[in-house]
Amino acid sequence: MKYAITDKCVGCHACLLVCPSNAVFADPDNPKQFMIHPRRCTGCEGQHAAPQCASICPVEEAIVNEYAIAVNPLGSLTGIEVREHVNTSID
Ligand code: SF4
Ligand code: SF4
Repeated sequence: MKYAITDKCVGCHACLLVCPSNAVFADPDNPKQFMIHPRRCTGCEGQHAAPQCASICPVEEAIVNEYAIAVNPLGSLTGIEVREHVNTSID
């Protein structure tokens, strides 16, 4: 397995359309959850400099590499700085 899709996926189809290995498919039990076939995924090696699925995916943390690290981590697409949660409630 090179890359995998997490439950952050919204099923937009974008990665399915660009994968050169036909490795992306929709979960038959949940059409809004896409998956990557572990044997078909080549990591786009020899075809593209970057994994095409992650390059086009609009959702942060939806695609992870073989180390389970998000290719597009929180804040990477929005440009919004990720901060620790601050409790602003007044007791
Ligand atoms: S890394 Fe490349 S081959 Fe693997 S699923 Fe993504 S687009 Fe397809
Ligand atoms: S591009 Fe991202 S959000 Fe869209 S189907 Fe693929 S993994 Fe899911």
